[in-house]
Amino acid sequence: MPEPRLSLTFTCTVTDCSTRSTHEFARKSYEKGIVIVECPGCKNRHLIADHLGWFKESTQDGKLKTVEDLVRAKGEKVRRGTVGGGGDIEYTPE
Ligand SMILES: [Zn+2]
Repeated sequence: MPEPRLSLTFTCTVTDCSTRSTHEFARKSYEKGIVIVECPGCKNRHLIADHLGWFKESTQDGKLKTVEDLVRAKGEKVRRGTVGGGGDIEYTPE
């Protein structure tokens, strides 16, 4: 069975952007892992779910500039999304 996936329509919260876009990710990532979506309008990334608390830490030392750096530093695979421009990132815990 394929893993269940969720679809989310997201309205960008950046001032003067407000682009609506649809993103798809594994339900398990959303419920137990990390989901980040990239706005196709302004290219900002928005944290949708952070059950592991990684992004509380990420602002403290300033070394990790992007979410991909952060995920790589954790030694886990980064899964790039295929919907919403390919800038989405999700991490599904095993
Ligand atoms: Zn935006």
